[in-house]
This record gives sequence, structure tokens and C-alpha cells, in this order.
Amino acid sequence: AHPIAPLDASRLKIQLAKTLKPIPAPGTYQFGDIHTDHMLIMAYHPLSGWSAPEIKPYGPIPIDPASNCLQYASNVFEGMKAILDPQGKPRLFRPKDNMERLRQSAARMALPTFDPDALLTCISKLVAIESRLYIRPTMMGTKPSIKVGASDHAILYTIVTPVGPYFTPTSASASAPPTTGGAVSLLAVSDHVRSWPGGTGGFKLGLNYSPGFVPQKAAAALGYDQVLWLLNTGDGRKLITEAGAMNFFAVVKRGDGGMTIVTPPLDGTILPGITRDSTLQLLRAYAQGSLALPPLPSPPPAPVVIEERELALGELTEHAAAGTLLECFGTGTAVLVVGIERIGEVVVDAKLSTEAEDVAAVAESKENAANGGKTKGNGTFDITM
Ligand code: PMP
Repeated sequence: AHPIAPLDASRLKIQLAKTLKPIPAPGTYQFGDIHTDHMLIMAYHPLSGWSAPEIKPYGPIPIDPASNCLQYASNVFEGMKAILDPQGKPRLFRPKDNMERLRQSAARMALPTFDPDALLTCISKLVAIESRLYIRPTMMGTKPSIKVGASDHAILYTIVTPVGPYFTPTSASASAPPTTGGAVSLLAVSDHVRSWPGGTGGFKLGLNYSPGFVPQKAAAALGYDQVLWLLNTGDGRKLITEAGAMNFFAVVKRGDGGMTIVTPPLDGTILPGITRDSTLQLLRAYAQGSLALPPLPSPPPAPVVIEERELALGELTEHAAAGTLLECFGTGTAVLVVGIERIGEVVVDAKLSTEAEDVAAVAESKENAANGGKTKGNGTFDITM
């Protein structure tokens, strides 16, 4: 019997790059395009366990062409951030939460297990070498067999990238003036779904993302930045799940002058976002009067209510029509908090689709909408914030 080695940070080997790439000037690159000089990598073999972790020059990873991940998408990943503190030292934002989510994603994919604290120690070393960054831990099943089944071989690596703007203007909106304050537009999509009850939407698996590329391209062609993912219910409602790779929040005005902030619940169809969690913690503290959030009055003059519950697109449309939709925003590590300036939906021809009734209702409320919005030439129809 061979001893199965655990992931052991004390075995970390560091080989620094001989030449370093030039640091690009801020504003000259986009999110994710540039990789730094080093990466962290280790491999799991079912007979020997985890190899010694290595920090080494960034470069290609040789993998067997029969690898499980290439055939069956057994890839999971994380997205975390290092931010420079006032002393210029990189600080990780809630990294234990990212490690725990990675562990859960790996378990959901039946990949080998690892010690999250040991991995975090290795990532901290990488970040100390490469400061100012978005950090992408990635794990993939590398069992060299095309037999359908779990991979008991794995490669676990981490690359890092400087943080440029996450959203760039879509081709259709590139000629339009830039959106105010970096707000984004969303195209609500229900014919493709990202996740469903009992599915994998609550984990950070690579396979949750690639089926979204076609709807994302379609949204961009219509002039929207991102897809608003919906889930059709049996009773005809379209539940909002997420906005692209962000969690979704809506803020509505109540009759008593207070506001209600609604975000979909962690029911397994959305990713449990760490920024979502921080946002909820801050909002709850503000609602209780224990935190000031300038420019909002503190304590709030009327009750602020925070709800994690199902939110249907129709509810947003009704609030937009009634003039009580104050704002919508998305949250995520890469984007932080981003305002949503409009949400569109493709108008479906009544003769071709049973969805026509819904759309008619949307169109009618749109006409009544106190805060505007109109059906556009490209067949989409917008709720504006
Ligand atoms: N939803 C999805 C689908 C995501 O990929 C992300 C980014 N990780 C988020 C939400 C936001 O999560 P977090 O705040 O942890 O980055």
C-alpha cells in the first residue's frame, strides 16, 4: 500500500521566471486577457496523492488527450481577488469562502479532495509574488480514460490576471454614449436556461458557463451587455436567477416610503456569491441602523426590508410600470457592484408563441410605465431603471 499524500503547503517549490513581462499601463487591457509571470500547480494521482505544489513560470500544461476533463468537462474553478491595502500589501477578499466553494464544487464533480487551508497558503505565496490581481484557482479531472465516470486523477492550478474593466461596450452599443457610471444592460432570456432545480447552478463548474456563450452572443448582437437568466415555472412565471456571472438584486419602493431589497434565494439554482453575501450583511447592518451607507440617511427614515426570495420578471415589470422600481444591480468578485440600467426581453410573435400573452402584458405595462421604456426596432422591449 502506498501512502496517499495530502495537499501539503510545506512542500511548496518555487521557481521564479528569469524574465518578467512588462507591466501594462492601467486602462490598456481587459479583464482576463493578461496573465502574470507565475502560476501555482499540483497534481493528484490515485496511488500517490498530491504532488508537491509548485510555483513556476506561467506556461502550457501537458495533459493526456484522453483526459476526463476534455471529454466530460470535469473542470471547476474559483474567482477571487487580491486588493492592495493602503500600505501597498496585497490582501485577499474572503479567501476562505472561495476555498470552501472550490471544495464543494470539486466534491460535486467527484474530483479528489484537498485541504482548503493548505491550498490557501500556497495561493497566498503566489499572490505575494504577483500582487494586484484577480485569482483563478482551477481544478480539472485528468484521469487518462475515455470511460464515462469520475476522475480520480486531477490537476489543480492557479493563475492570476491584473484587474481591468470587466465589461466593455457591446458591438451594438459601442457607438452609443458610455452607460452612466458603468451600468450594464441585460437581455432577459428564458428559452435557454442556465440552471434548474436539482441541477448544478449552485456550484462553480466550467460546464455551467459554456452553454451560455450562444445566448450571450445573441444578447450582445441586440446591444445588451449580459444575459438575465430566467427559470420558467410551471405556473407561467419567469423567475430571475442571475445576471450573467453576477448575483441579482432589485430595490423597490414601498407605500410607507421605505424600500425593499430583493435577491433570489440560495435554492441551488444560483451561485452562492461571496459578494452577494457581503452585500446582504452590509444591507442588514444598514437596515438595523448599525451601519452608515452614505449618501443614504442613517438610520433609515423608513424601514428597509431585505428579502431572499423568488423574484419573477413580471414583478419587476409591474414595479417599473408603477414607478416603484428604484434600481437593480449585480454583484460579483470581478465587477464588485454594478448598476443595471435596463432589462430587455425579445418580443415574441403572437402567432408563433404561447409567450405572446406575457409579452403583451409587458408591452401594455410598458406603455403605462411612469419611468419610460419602449419597444425598439430590433424586436426587444425594455424596462428601464
Ligand atoms: N454568479 C455566477 C454565475 C458567477 O460566476 C459569479 C462569479 N463567481 C457570481 C454569481 C458572483 O459570485 P462572487 O461574488 O463570489 O464572485
